[in-house]
Amino acid sequence: MKKKILFLNFPWKALYIRDYYCSKISKGNYINAPIDLVMQSWVLNTWEFDLHLIDGIVEKKSPEKILKEIRLYNPDIIIWLIWSASLDEDKIFLKRLLEQNYEVLLSWDILITEADKFMLEFPKLKWVITNFIWRWVYHYLKWEYDQMDAIIIRQWSEIKRYPEKKDRFFSVNIPAHNLFIKKKYRMPFVRKYPFATTIMTYGCPFKCSFCIMSKLGYQERTVEEMVTELDKLKELWVKEILFLDQTLWINRINFKKLLHVMIEKKYNFWRFWFSRVDVMDKETMLLMKRAWCHTIRFWVESWNEFILKTYGKWYTLDIIKSWIKTAKEAWMNLLWTFILWLPEETFAMAKETIKFSKELGLDFASFNFAVPRYGTDLRAEAQEKWLIDDSIETMDQSGNTIVMWSRHMTMQEIEKIRKLAIREFYLRPQYIISRIRKIKSRTEFKENVANAILLFKNTFF
Ligand code: SF4
Repeated sequence: MKKKILFLNFPWKALYIRDYYCSKISKGNYINAPIDLVMQSWVLNTWEFDLHLIDGIVEKKSPEKILKEIRLYNPDIIIWLIWSASLDEDKIFLKRLLEQNYEVLLSWDILITEADKFMLEFPKLKWVITNFIWRWVYHYLKWEYDQMDAIIIRQWSEIKRYPEKKDRFFSVNIPAHNLFIKKKYRMPFVRKYPFATTIMTYGCPFKCSFCIMSKLGYQERTVEEMVTELDKLKELWVKEILFLDQTLWINRINFKKLLHVMIEKKYNFWRFWFSRVDVMDKETMLLMKRAWCHTIRFWVESWNEFILKTYGKWYTLDIIKSWIKTAKEAWMNLLWTFILWLPEETFAMAKETIKFSKELGLDFASFNFAVPRYGTDLRAEAQEKWLIDDSIETMDQSGNTIVMWSRHMTMQEIEKIRKLAIREFYLRPQYIISRIRKIKSRTEFKENVANAILLFKNTFF
């Protein structure tokens, strides 16, 4: 009989995006398929296993209903995402499942550095995942213990770490996208459904001190494997793909090769991507446009060179400005992310970043609040400057919960900044008119309206 594997995203009171070691509460109505689960599904996507997905967040089910579904499915193994903002509740249900003798594997940002402590708290927890792209679970299920990697396992009284392999390329089977595209994952830029999420690269080679991606290393898939996956998505009638890579264009040769294949094969789905401004060039942007890419998301973070330099961004305002010109020439939707509340930032600097965000002609701006994630240099800085209480594990970058004090701002000022950013950026008549003009489908219109309603509700009420 096939082994039953359950991918589990447990419900919580808010729309909570748990993935890629960087969880947050959705500021609007958007939520993508958790990339950790998508990637593990490809490791196990063989005839040998029966795969099942329960996403209590996107399905809006109660914890009791989910527990009942788990009992009915009766899995051999549960691969479960628990994460910082929902931790108190997650721990209660984790305890219940472990008491019922389910074998649970956990993926969570804190576990990268704090796994031993957590396993002491839950003596029945046997293993945790430290890298979601490796094949550890497959080898475990096949009793190939000598080939395990990127996992921490309790063996009798000992907690053993199997280190990650640091190869440049990673290669596994094709993800079980059929499980994920049936669920109601959604994004404001999506023009048509079904919508899938994938990656071509893992981690990031840059060293921004507040970002956990800088600690994951950097690995890539081959173009050939990506093309096989895109063929599969075409067969599944997928209409949109979110590439959740943290910084594309690192391997320009491979990325351009992929874009050329996309153009030649006439894949009729839209795509959107992430990157940073200083790795871009105009030729690639235009090529992306030809390959049906409609939206690009950039980590810009601040309009202050001192902040950019202090936290490891290392590009200048001149580079950002010159890139804006290039992006406008390629006519793509632009989403930029900003980070506020870094320890060295002042209220005036934060206001300057908000002012700057309005001058760029962006389609979306995502304002995030710095959190001292486990394993980051920012956490070390916050500890050194006595800005955090080390016992607090719950944190969220949407600004709903603040766990790090600032050196220059008061807690009242953060609430002011949060509201100011949304009001100043999104409530401009010229912004609203230009956004409406750019909408290409009824689906996109509905997603934009749903996101706007929730964004204002979450920020002002
Ligand atoms: S470039 Fe982006 S993803 Fe990479 S470390 Fe910096 S903030 Fe993180």
